[in-house]
Amino acid sequence: MREIILIKNGELALKGLNRKNFEDALVKNMRHRISDLGEFKFIKAQSTIMVEPLSENADLHEAFERLKKVFGIAGLSRAVACEKNMDEVLHFTCEYLKDSFNMSRTFKVNAKRSDKSFPLKSPEICAITGEKILTDFPHLTVDVHNPDIIVTVEIRDREAFIHGNQVKGAGGMPVGTGGKAALLISGGIDSPVAGYMIAKRGIILTAVHFASPPYTSELAEEKVHRLLKKVSEYSGRLNLYTVPFTELQEAIRAHCPEDLFTLVMRRLMMKISSVIAKREGCGALVTGESLGQVASQTLSALQCTDDAALLPVLRPLIGMDKDEIVAVSRRIDTFDISIEPFEDCCTVFTPRHPRLKPELEKVIMAEQKVLAAFPEDIIEATAKAATLTVIG
Ligand code: ATP
Ligand code: MG
Repeated sequence: MREIILIKNGELALKGLNRKNFEDALVKNMRHRISDLGEFKFIKAQSTIMVEPLSENADLHEAFERLKKVFGIAGLSRAVACEKNMDEVLHFTCEYLKDSFNMSRTFKVNAKRSDKSFPLKSPEICAITGEKILTDFPHLTVDVHNPDIIVTVEIRDREAFIHGNQVKGAGGMPVGTGGKAALLISGGIDSPVAGYMIAKRGIILTAVHFASPPYTSELAEEKVHRLLKKVSEYSGRLNLYTVPFTELQEAIRAHCPEDLFTLVMRRLMMKISSVIAKREGCGALVTGESLGQVASQTLSALQCTDDAALLPVLRPLIGMDKDEIVAVSRRIDTFDISIEPFEDCCTVFTPRHPRLKPELEKVIMAEQKVLAAFPEDIIEATAKAATLTVIG
């Protein structure tokens, strides 16, 4: 039996003239994501892409699992390919879908005929296939409204494909079609989710993490690597810049009023991230902030941090509740890593009474005192000192 994967394009089907670029980007991403699983051929046809293993040892099962996480795909199914005649179609339908039929109670047949010269019309294909299934699997009944399994028979130009239920794809747009953005990633629950959501819109991610050893442990950094590895299953390979933040945090503690610690720290993060982001060709910064979640995420606090950024700040979680964010983090499998108890640089220096309605001028004055404690341009110097790790 010759098994393949059928990919149904997502939103990109809407993209008119841009469609080819989007499809090319999608194929490139798919190819890259399964490149270590053996040789595969990608064939584009009629708003589907066919992924066909070329070598015996190509791992179709794992390829299917990985492709479920590639953005730009609305749905995907494993299918069997056969010759375009009804004898073959009936034989392979009953053989290939045997296990699914045995586990189902109801079914429906759906036929698609892109080869209009095929002697039977779609309703006839459905009727003949349905009859054969009822004969071979007498425990099944037809249910056209809510079947356990939808059997699809596709008569294409060169051959026929048969498959059972389609699996939902990751949706969104192919990564790389929307430019690049820098994700500020902590070890928390929110920022990995924010990265996932922005990558879903077709954006390539570069990650920036601020580490303050010895206040923060190596384990905290390693946790960020593991979180990004999970995100990269969706976003594709990404660069992580780890920024040495200890000196600046100590300077904040030495020179700022305690109630402004967090805001000044967040402004410095924005400034340093902006330098790194521009250097990497990013058009925006991304954070996991959500309105009202903590003191540094009130409207006036966000105004303070925005003011320090040199690029637009995207906050995809801004209107989400914590439980909604947690639901996504569970789905993308980052939640269990996020809740591991390693201190990150924010928690170490958290003030007891953060300012809820900070005044921008006061925050800027406090920040200037911190920056003045260094002889050189500490923003540029710190951005330059960031170390690069490639993830995924
Ligand atoms: P998260 O769950 O993402 O840590 P949070 O709700 O704990 O978010 P904060 O700690 O105030 O909120 O951080 C807000 C945002 O600032 C984070 O979502 C992240 O984008 C960024 N951020 C916080 N700490 C760091 C860090 N150490 N390195 C890089 N970015 C950070
Ligand atoms: Mg945090």
